[in-house]
Order: sequence, then C-alpha cells, then structure tokens
Amino acid sequence: MAQGNGREPIRAPRGAGLNSRGWQQEAALRMLMNNLDPEVAEHPDKLVVYGGTGKAARDWPSYDAIVRTLATLGGDETLLVQSGRPVGVMTTHEWAPRVLIANSNLVGDWATWPEFRRLEQLGLTMYGQMTAGSWIYIGTQGILQGTYETFGAVAAKRFGGSLAGTITLTAGLGGMGGAQPLAVTMNGGVAICVDCDPRSIDRRIEHRYLDVRAADLDEALRLAYEARDARRPLSVGVEANAAEAVPELLARGAEIDVVTDQTSAHDPLAYLPIGVAFEDMAAEARKDPDGFTQRARESMARHVEAMVGFQDAGAEVFDYGNSIRGEARLAGYSRAFDFPGFVPAYIRPLFCEGKGPFRWAALSGDPADIARTDRAVLDLFPENESLARWITMAGERVRFQGLPARICWLGYGERDRAGERFNDLVASGEVSAPIVIGRDHLDCGSVASPYRETEAMLDGSDAIADWPLLNAMVNVASGASWVSIHHGGGVGIGRSIHAGQVTVADGTALAGEKIRRVLTNDPGMGVIRHVDAGYDRAAEVAHERGVRVPMAEA
Ligand code: NAD
Repeated sequence: MAQGNGREPIRAPRGAGLNSRGWQQEAALRMLMNNLDPEVAEHPDKLVVYGGTGKAARDWPSYDAIVRTLATLGGDETLLVQSGRPVGVMTTHEWAPRVLIANSNLVGDWATWPEFRRLEQLGLTMYGQMTAGSWIYIGTQGILQGTYETFGAVAAKRFGGSLAGTITLTAGLGGMGGAQPLAVTMNGGVAICVDCDPRSIDRRIEHRYLDVRAADLDEALRLAYEARDARRPLSVGVEANAAEAVPELLARGAEIDVVTDQTSAHDPLAYLPIGVAFEDMAAEARKDPDGFTQRARESMARHVEAMVGFQDAGAEVFDYGNSIRGEARLAGYSRAFDFPGFVPAYIRPLFCEGKGPFRWAALSGDPADIARTDRAVLDLFPENESLARWITMAGERVRFQGLPARICWLGYGERDRAGERFNDLVASGEVSAPIVIGRDHLDCGSVASPYRETEAMLDGSDAIADWPLLNAMVNVASGASWVSIHHGGGVGIGRSIHAGQVTVADGTALAGEKIRRVLTNDPGMGVIRHVDAGYDRAAEVAHERGVRVPMAEA
C-alpha cells in the first residue's frame, strides 16, 4: 500500500543476487533502503529514520539519484554524498570506499540549531543523526543492547557482575527509556520503572520489555522486594510523576540499589511538572511554554535532589544522557552534578579497551544467517559470559526489524576476529549472502561529544574534535566500504562531531584483507585516543595488544 507521500513502502532486496555491479555497492544500496523500511524507520514517508529528524537522504529526488547511482557504480568508483544528496562520482580504486558521506557539518560559529534549521529550510543540508544518514541503523535492538551493556557495567562495578538481588529505580518508559526494564532483568536484577503516561507502560508490557504493572508505589515495592529476595529478575511499571514518586520513595527509606532516569528531560516541554495532570500536559505546554518550562525545571530539581539523596544513602546513581542534571541546575539546584553521567561512570573503561557497539546485518534477509553468526561469536569468545548471555537472550527475545541484524560490544583484537570469521562463513556458503559489518557512531574513538561520550575526559580534551576526523580518515585508508563524518548526532547541533564506517564481508580474500585492517584500526582509534588522554587502562591495553603509540615509545 502506498505511504503518505504516495510512494510504495521501501524494502531492501533480499537474497544472493546482485542489483548492482558488486557487493560493496549492493550493501550500501540495501542498507540505505533498509533504513527506510517502515519496519525500521520512524517516519519513512519523510525519509526520517530515528532520533527526531535523523534522515537517510535529503529529499526524494536525492534518494532516487543515490539508488540509481549505486546500481551502476563501478568497483573503482566512489560516490560522494553531501548531507543526504549525491553530489559526485569520482574514479578511485578497489581499496577505496564506494561511498563517502558528510552530513550536517557546519563551521563552528554557525553551528546552532536556528542556523541549521534555516539552511535546512533552504534545502542545503539534512540532519543525519548517527546511523540514519550513514545507512547502518538496525532498529531498537541497538538501544536495548547499549542499555544492557550499561547496566552490565554497573553490575561489574558495584555488584560482582550481576544485578541479581538488587533493585534499580528509574523513570521514563518511552522509545528509548523503554529498554531499561528488559536490560535490568537481562542482567538478573529487579527494576521499578515510573512513567506518567499509562500508554508507555502498556506498550512496554505488550512488547515484552516490561513484566508487570503495579497499582501504586506500595505494590511496586512489595513485588520488587519479593523478587529481589528470591534473586528473581522482575520489572515493575508504575504510573506516577517521577518528580513526586522518587522523593516519596526516598522519604520512605525504600531499599534501592541503583537510580537513574530516562524521562525526556532534555526537552522541558516534554517533562511533566508536578501539579499538571498528564492529560493536560500538551495543552498546558502549548498555552504557556515559558511558564511550563520553569515548572518542569523546578520539578526536575526535586527529582534530581531525591536522586542525590539516594546517592547519599549509598545507592549507585547516574545520569543516562537526558540532561536532567543540567535542567535541575538551571532551576537553581546546586548539587545537580553530584552524580556522574553514564559514560565517565561505566562506559569509558570499555572505550579504553576499544570496546563499542559492533553490529552486522545479513544481506540475504534470512534470519538463519544471523543465527549462524551468533553461534560463531559464541564460539570465538567462550570466556565472555556477559556477551554469551546477551547473544543468547537476543536470539530469543529480539524481534528483527528489516534485514536481520545483530549487535554486541567487542573490543580491540576481537572485532577483526569476528569480521574475518563472518567473511569465512560467506566464503564457505555457511551463510547465504554477504554480511555487512558496521557500528554506531557512539564508539570509543569516533566521537567528540562533551555532554556524552567525551564528558569529563581525564586531560580536559572533551571538545577536541580531531579524533573523529582521524578515525574517518584511517577507515578510508584501511579499506572500509563506506565512511561518514557527521555533526550534531545524539546531543544536537553544536554539541558533537562523529564518524562511522561500514565494511562488507563478501567472502573474497580482498574483503578479508580490508576487514582485518578496518576492524583493527577502527577500535584502535579508541585505544590511542584514551592513551593520549592519560587513561592507564588504555595504556595497558595498547601495551598488551601491540597498539603503537609513538609518544609512549621511548
Ligand atoms: P520519549 O519521549 O519516547 O519517552 C519519555 C517518557 O518519559 C515518556 O513515556 C513520558 O511519559 C515520560 N515522562 C515525562 N515526564 C515524566 C515525569 N515527570 N514522570 C514520569 N515520566 C515522565 O523519550 P526516549 O526516546 O525514551 O528518551 C528519553 C530520554 O533519554 C531523552 O532525553 C533522550 O535524549 C535520552 N536518551 C539518552 C540516551 C543516551 O545517552 N545513551 C539513550 C537514549 C535516550
């Protein structure tokens, strides 16, 4: 059936037959189309894949021209894409990427939302988010796995590697926050999740991300204590305003081990203030945006004050990337930054090992191919229990969206082994078509983002953006199939610069050579970036695994 824009829904071709002149071009073509598959994209009729207005192509004529060009592109040619619009084809060579992408980049002084929107209105740019404009988004599995990994890191840091026997309190069961209950239970823990919108709770139960709904805080606590005492994983949703519920639970002395939050605090018009009924929220925000913002910020201050109270009482507390600390500070709460953001608290040690969100998709469209790669990953890293738990549970619980895909965090010395194994599986026919291997831009050495991935770097280099540019260049030099440099993904225009790479395992010896270099050098950027910033763990990893760092070579 035609979509709102009158076009037929887009679905990537499946199977082992080519619609273009080689598998690298074919992979780019299928992954662009897959990003816009209605099963994958939030608003495919508007070319929007995810994350607000993150798009795969600037407009429909651009999309059609990219598809047309990829279908005829030679194995020694490179297509250039400027903010979602194909602007040139250059003769290169077989080791060069088939596509080079630059999205949403602006000169520093012009890098503001109003200026970006103005240029977008003129048809000159497009917001590429992270994996929308670089054609490697795989749906909500990515969010679930990242959240699982974060709670796994919390467990490793504080609770001996598992959340069994602990209770996590959080709020926000929306599009991304809804991954929290499942990520906690996958780590063996109990979660109490507060949301003011009953539909958010229902939707998470329907999608099996949340186990049960409690009638009120009393019941939520009773269910949580019972499950915790039995060391049984359980997630409980409860309808309430977090700005009231979290202080109330603190006042009652609730036994909570971990506290975080994923309400949509980054946008004060999307956070329900105390004293406003949920049904009236949209109308009140429209009627008086300034007054609503002020009330929301004051409520966030109450919410954050209670989070600090839980921290004072011994709980593990962190900000989950929604700017709630910043908003509470704007309301005048002075201790808002007493608890850390999740990257410095848990993810940075992983980044020091070159670990990050490695992902791949089966171009065949056959779920059996992903099952085969899952087994290969389990065989390759038998000692990694958390990875095994994730791969097994993902196989059971994650519903594929679009082309079957998988994500897991692998580090320096691991990604190349996985990639080469996948290439061997393609060569031997154990999977039925090539595998495309990429990652999120949220990775160890590919992003400068002072409010998130590079918050509080040891040497103060939070805003230094040379690293993602070096990352993109090294991936081009190493043989990636397509490489991208974006601005503004995740945290918005003016706040981040980041790079991506995707490499195709088509079973040839040449692909094997490229994979070995790209999947070594790409995570290698994470190791050297953190060695340079003074992290001891990164220096150890570089030393143990043979990553050359000139300044450390006496
Ligand atoms: P969303 O808008 O889909 O969901 C937000 C939810 O919060 C809604 O269900 C809403 O009802 C609820 N909510 C709002 N005010 C509330 C209140 N006072 N009390 C209780 N519930 C309230 O948003 P999302 O996509 O789930 O993202 C949530 C936030 O997390 C965003 O700020 C996003 O930027 C951030 N985020 C960060 C990361 C990261 O840094 N890794 C990842 C995902 C999301």
